[in-house]
Amino acid sequence: KAKKHLGQHFLTDENIAEKIVEGLSFENYKNIMEVGPGMGVLTKYLLEKDQKIYLAEIDQESIEYLKKNYHTTEETFVGDFLKQDFEFIKQDQIAIIGNFPYNISSQILFKIIDYYQIVPEMVGMFQKEVAERTAAVPRTKDYGILSVLVQAYYDVTYLFTVHENVFNPPPKVKSGVIKLTRNPKEGLAGNEVLFKQIVKAGFGQRRKKLSNSWKVLNIPEALKTHEFLDKRAEELSVEDFISFTQLWKENQ
Ligand code: SAM
Repeated sequence: KAKKHLGQHFLTDENIAEKIVEGLSFENYKNIMEVGPGMGVLTKYLLEKDQKIYLAEIDQESIEYLKKNYHTTEETFVGDFLKQDFEFIKQDQIAIIGNFPYNISSQILFKIIDYYQIVPEMVGMFQKEVAERTAAVPRTKDYGILSVLVQAYYDVTYLFTVHENVFNPPPKVKSGVIKLTRNPKEGLAGNEVLFKQIVKAGFGQRRKKLSNSWKVLNIPEALKTHEFLDKRAEELSVEDFISFTQLWKENQ
């Protein structure tokens, strides 16, 4: 029986499950972590691969089911995804996959960004709107904090849309599968904290000019006449945000 508070919607279409798994490249990493394996619809395809599989699941009933029906051991299970520190994989690389619990979508994406140095790839299903926001380009209504923060570290590809009726129970909205491929933009290193502040404040009042939205941050004097201040956040590219962060730091 599905548990709503855990975001449980079980995928019932095998073809889609296989298609999600085949979204990964299986190149250049020895480990894969699946977030929320549930009844194992994706897991069984993953277990056929050469990589070592880790399962992050918090539902004890699902864990018991997976132990019984699939070739998994106690050490396959790593608990809550949001509590992972990835200590156990040392300096290795680990890909992330999942039909994610939608109540923690952005937290999952932010976690992946935090660990981008060990996460080369992610393929996952989100509610369609989150998938679209992650993949969005400048000057569109979907372009925002999620797009800029994720795209600073990863290339984002929107793979395909999934209809409500292939889940049990069906969710209220459509889903979208996206792929992240690590490609960190230059100029971020050492500036991550300020970058996040500038992006978040910029989109804080997305209809206003950046001269307004950034007031909460103490814009350095030398930048007060910069052309970006006359624009709105959605007009800046990811590269613009990064180069402006560098300028900001130099002029602080
Ligand atoms: N992968 C299965 C499928 O496609 O049918 C289940 C997907 S269901 C949308 C999300 C799963 O994430 C559930 O099994 C739920 O128990 C699990 N889950 C919820 N919160 C979690 C968390 N913080 N860490 C790991 N798993 C979680």
